[in-house]
Amino acid sequence: MNLENYELNGEMIPIATYPEPVLSQIARPVTEFNQDLKDLVKNMLFTMYHAPGIGLAAPQVGQSIRLFVLDVDYDRDEVTTASGMEEFRLSGFNPKVFINPVLTGTSGTTTFEEGCLSVPGVYEEVKRFESLHVKYQDLDGNFHELQVDDMLSICIQHENDHLDGILFFERLSNLKKNFYKKKMLKEKGR
Ligand code: ZN
Repeated sequence: MNLENYELNGEMIPIATYPEPVLSQIARPVTEFNQDLKDLVKNMLFTMYHAPGIGLAAPQVGQSIRLFVLDVDYDRDEVTTASGMEEFRLSGFNPKVFINPVLTGTSGTTTFEEGCLSVPGVYEEVKRFESLHVKYQDLDGNFHELQVDDMLSICIQHENDHLDGILFFERLSNLKKNFYKKKMLKEKGR
C-alpha cells in the first residue's frame, strides 16, 4: 500500500461502539510489521473514509493494538449523478498511519467539538493540548517524529486516547460523562 499516492480500496470493518469492552482496554504494542498489519491499515483507512471519519484507532475495529490512522485533509463532496442519485465523492486524500505512538512535549490548551465513530450521536467540546510532539513507527517499523498543532494535534490526542481505553466523552465533567453513559446504555437496552 502506497500512502503517498493513496488509492481508496479495501473492505469495511465493523466499528465497535460503547460499551464494547475492547474500547476500554489498554492496547498492546505492535511488534510485527508484516502483511497482515498492512492489510489491517488498508481496511481501516477504507472504513474511516466511508464511515466517514477523520480518524480511526485499531481498538475501534476490535484489534487491541497501538495503531491509528487519520486524515484531516480530505474532501467529501455531495454530487448528483447523471441518473439523479445523490452520492459522496471523496478526494484529496492525505492518509497518515501512526504505530506505537508516544506523545511528549505537550503545550497550550485548545477546545474543539469532537465526535467519535464508537460513540454515535454525541458531540461535545473537549479540552486538549494545543500542540505536541509525537514519535511513532510506520508500516515498515521505521521511526519518525513530528511536531503538530491544530486539528492534527487534536485528532492525534483523540485517537491516542483510544489506545489507552479512553473515549472522548470520558474527558468531560463527571456530570456530562455520567449523562452520556446512561443515555448510551439505555439506547443499547442495558
Ligand atoms: Zn474516537
